[in-house]
Amino acid sequence: ATVKRTPFIAGNWKMNLDHLQAIAFVQKLAWSLQDAKHDFDSVEVAVFPPFTDLRSVQTLVSADKLPLAYGAQDVSAQDSGAYTGEISGAFLSQLDCRYVIIGHSERRTLHAETDEVVRAKTAAALKHGIVPVICVGETAEDLEKHGSSAVPVAQLRAALEGVSADAEIVVAYEPVWAIGSGQAATPDQAEAVAAALRGVIAEALGDDAAARTRILYGGSVKSGNIAGFMREPNVDGALVGGASLDVTEFSNIARYQK
Ligand code: PGA
Repeated sequence: ATVKRTPFIAGNWKMNLDHLQAIAFVQKLAWSLQDAKHDFDSVEVAVFPPFTDLRSVQTLVSADKLPLAYGAQDVSAQDSGAYTGEISGAFLSQLDCRYVIIGHSERRTLHAETDEVVRAKTAAALKHGIVPVICVGETAEDLEKHGSSAVPVAQLRAALEGVSADAEIVVAYEPVWAIGSGQAATPDQAEAVAAALRGVIAEALGDDAAARTRILYGGSVKSGNIAGFMREPNVDGALVGGASLDVTEFSNIARYQK
């Protein structure tokens, strides 16, 4: 069965924009998209601000009824308790976060997040009704040794252990060598890995889940290269870092429909 997947353009702000800057940014982004007559039903747009911005973003989005989604960049695997510095999925869900990024390569590398941690955080997000945006991707060294698909396939398999077949998830394929490097994968490369990842979803969660789950490409996406990715059948959108911090650039990226 063919299922129409709503394309998804997600902006990962990383550690940029404080809560005051976030309010100004989200307001401008909404205006810019509305000016461009953006059809929010045909391309979903979401921002992923730092934790300290989320309450402000929630207030703005709900007061002005902005058609933007938002999420957090990480979540604790635990619900509550003696975990200094951690943020529970219960708190994020109280702030109406629809999404949370899990297993970004910067978390895997700089915070030693293993596949086991990513799996536990995926389960925690789902438990609290938040859609996990599960990030996978190979390093340049992995690419040389194992080709492009092996590592992301193994990472996704591990993350999906114990996930139920009807869970909503989003998968982001982000080759580590393409993140922040200005050297994006080619649309062909992204498509090949996205197709392999869709196969993993089919194995783990079944064909329906594979048909309905959105798979994003991430790594040096800009308004100048988004069209090529969006043309690929298994790429349903993008996770955008650097280029998501510029309102005009990000809204131009969101303009490319499938
Ligand atoms: P980039 O980052 O778009 O700046 O390459 C992507 C990401 O890390 O999600």
